[in-house]
Amino acid sequence: MEMDWPAPVVSVLNTLEAGGYEAYLVGGCVRDRLLGRPVTDFDVATNATPDQVVSLFPRTVPTGLKHGTVTVLSEGLPVEVTTYRKDIGYSDGRRPDKVAFCHSLEEDLSRRDFTVNAMAMDVRGHIVDCFGGRSDLARRVIRAVGVPSHRFQEDGLRILRAFRFAAQLGFQLDDDTWRGMEQNAEKLRAVSPERIGVEVAKIAAADWSAVIDSMAKSEIWAYVDPHLRPLQQGFKRLSTAAKSLQSWMKPHAVEDRIAEALAIWCHAAGLTPTSCRAMGRALRWSNQYCQEAGDFLELLQANPLKWSTWEWRRHLFEFGEGRVERACAALDIWENVGDDHRPRWTLFREYAQTQPIWRVQDLQISGQDIVALGARGPLVGQVKQQLTEDVLMKRVLNDRSHLLKRATALIHSLAGGTTFDFTDG
Ligand code: ATP
Ligand code: MG
Repeated sequence: MEMDWPAPVVSVLNTLEAGGYEAYLVGGCVRDRLLGRPVTDFDVATNATPDQVVSLFPRTVPTGLKHGTVTVLSEGLPVEVTTYRKDIGYSDGRRPDKVAFCHSLEEDLSRRDFTVNAMAMDVRGHIVDCFGGRSDLARRVIRAVGVPSHRFQEDGLRILRAFRFAAQLGFQLDDDTWRGMEQNAEKLRAVSPERIGVEVAKIAAADWSAVIDSMAKSEIWAYVDPHLRPLQQGFKRLSTAAKSLQSWMKPHAVEDRIAEALAIWCHAAGLTPTSCRAMGRALRWSNQYCQEAGDFLELLQANPLKWSTWEWRRHLFEFGEGRVERACAALDIWENVGDDHRPRWTLFREYAQTQPIWRVQDLQISGQDIVALGARGPLVGQVKQQLTEDVLMKRVLNDRSHLLKRATALIHSLAGGTTFDFTDG
């Protein structure tokens, strides 16, 4: 089969072969290439030892020598070259006790998790597929290499990887593989929160509606961090709305999708924004993701249909246009699966069109202006905050001369300690 791999990748394969070694692209890049999906990472397997690999290329980085991995910088493109290896013993259910280099590609492929990840391709496009990966790609199935229950026993993370690949590729879980996952659910106990968090984020960014029913009936929840357990209930309750919500989210930026998915799952599970943020932390997600998921959940729980004009302006200002729009759209879709009724989103559009100010920075007066009017210290901030509220409430126009006048009055009253009548003017 003719395959156009990028020139720097071809050059790595050719150099290894010219040195007398075997060289194959393996894993995700072969899978994605055969599926016609974009490929970003190129993993090469070879029978050359890491030292031999280093000696063949002018620019290499010893990324994981212990595991046999050398990164070759080929015309600036990083290509991971790993010596054929087999994993020996998995006494902790997390990682091999030892890795040993081996001589055959087949042995290297047999340690890989799923058949669709266990194919190799040489520079001429010849495919090595010992475990039926191509037929599983065609059937759209995630199936473990070898005896499923052994493979999940070796490494509990593979259970989440199975859900993740099914979500990313829109594949079904093979029946025996599913049984193997369930029999070994407790193996997740040994998996670090960071690795769990990475997989859950990848599921959140992918088509999670494809795996929501299996995740809802899975045993894994008893063996993960207690903060994550309510997700199971959320998945159960979401089941019918999941497809519509997920396809609506599809075009959003990946960071938005991850935070939104967590908030939607938590909303279905009946959790508070505080518990949602705690769940994000239990997954070791960045503060930004945790914060955004919590904010989005706050909006999902706020009922925009009942907001007053003031509340609309306040929420638009505090949460930003995009997030409020997305919360309104999500709630409409959730409640009206299958029809085009969009009451919250329609309200959003009306209020967004007349929103007087979106950010403090848009105020047509600066801190320096306020200082020039005689304010000092914390008073400057107080005046700015009050001016923002005044503009939001349309008590004053967001234009410089009106704001200067208003600021003068505010400084006078706030500094003088008298109560200022904000409804005036
Ligand atoms: P992507 O990079 O798109 O997430 P990938 O298939 O490249 O997908 P990686 O996690 O980068 O996945 O791993 C590269 C390859 O290494 C996999 O395709 C698989 O063959 C093998 N692999 C990775 N993790 C495991 C694991 N826990 N158990 C067995 N094999 C694994
Ligand atoms: Mg990869």
